[in-house]
Amino acid sequence: KSIRAPECEQATTLQVALRCRPLSIAEKSRYKELIHIENERVVVVSDSNGMKNREKRFSFDFALGPEVKNLEVYNQVASPIIKGVVNGLNGTIFAYGATGSGKTHTMVGTANDPGLMVLSMQDIFQLVSNEEKDHKFEITCSYLEVYNEVIYDLLDRSSRHLELREDPEQGIFVSGLKRVQVNSAAKILELLQIGNSRRKTERTDANAISSRSHAVLEIVVKKYLQNETGSTILQGKIALVDLAGSERASETNNVGQKLRDGANINKSLLALANCINALGKQQKRGLAYVPYRNSKLTRILKDGLSGNSRTCMVATVCFADHQYHHTINTLKYADRAK
Ligand code: ADP
Ligand code: MG
Repeated sequence: KSIRAPECEQATTLQVALRCRPLSIAEKSRYKELIHIENERVVVVSDSNGMKNREKRFSFDFALGPEVKNLEVYNQVASPIIKGVVNGLNGTIFAYGATGSGKTHTMVGTANDPGLMVLSMQDIFQLVSNEEKDHKFEITCSYLEVYNEVIYDLLDRSSRHLELREDPEQGIFVSGLKRVQVNSAAKILELLQIGNSRRKTERTDANAISSRSHAVLEIVVKKYLQNETGSTILQGKIALVDLAGSERASETNNVGQKLRDGANINKSLLALANCINALGKQQKRGLAYVPYRNSKLTRILKDGLSGNSRTCMVATVCFADHQYHHTINTLKYADRAK
C-alpha cells in the first residue's frame, strides 16, 4: 500500500476573510460602532473619535458582517477546502484576532450555531457518504493544545507533555497523541466538548489561559483506491485552529521590539504570523521560504502551510469603539497577509 500524493502541483493558496462579530445588547448601549462592511470584500473603519473624514478602508477575499452565521462562513470560506481534503489535499483554517473578538465562536461555536470544526466534520461525512459505494474511507481526528510552547492532548485525561518527533516517512508528528476514529458528526461535537472542558478546567485562571493557548483539531481522511495493481491510499488532512488572542503579538509587532518576559511571548503566534506573511508574499511574488520551524505550532501545522495545501485565515474583530486598537491591529495584519 502506498500513500499517493494528488496530482496537483500548485503552491499553497492563502485566503483571508474578515469577520465582525455583533455587539451584545449591553455593549450596544455603551459603545459606538466604528466599522461598517461596505460590500462583500471591503470594510471601512472610522477614526476612534468617530471622525468620518479619517476613515480607513481595507479589502479582503471576504468581509463578513455581524449578521453572518457560522454556516454561511463555512459555505463561503471553508467548504472548498474541505472538498479538497476528501480528495487528498491538505488545508489549514484558523481564527486570528484579539481575545473576545469571536475566534472560539467561529471555530467551535454553540449547539445553535455550530462552528467551523463541527461543520467541517459534518460536511466530510456528507461528502464521504456520497462516494462510499465506490471507495472505503477512514476518518480520524486528534485535538491538542499548545500552551507556553508545551503540547497537551485534549482527548487524553492525563496532562502529559507531548513531544514533536520527525520521521522520514511520517514527517513531523506529535508522539503519543491520541488519534480517534470517528464515524459520526455527533461524535466530533462530543469530543470537542470534552476537549474544551479540559482546556478550561485543568488550569487555574480559565480566561487568561484560554486566551493564550492554541487549540488544534486535525482531521485526517484516508480514501482507499482500488486498481489493477492493488490499492493506494489518498490522504488529505485539515487543521482547524482556535488561536490564542493576538493582542500581545500585535503589540510586540507594533513597537518592533521583543517582549522580555518569557511568559509574555507567544512564540507560536508570532511564528505563525511570520509564516502567513511569507505565504502572502509567495502568493504575490512566487515561491518564498516559509519559516515554519520556529515554533511548536508552526511545526505541527507544516503540512497545511506548505506544498499544495490551502490556507484560510478568518480574522475576527469587534465593532465597538473600545476595541479600536485591537481591531486596527488585526485589520492591518490581515491586510498584510493577503
Ligand atoms: P474569543 O475566542 O476570540 O476570545 P469568543 O468567541 O469567546 O471570543 O467571543 C466572545 C463573545 O462574543 C462570546 O460571548 C461569544 O458567544 C460572542 N460572539 C462571538 N462571535 C459571535 C457571533 N458571530 N455571533 C454571536 N455571538 C458571538
Ligand atoms: Mg476563545
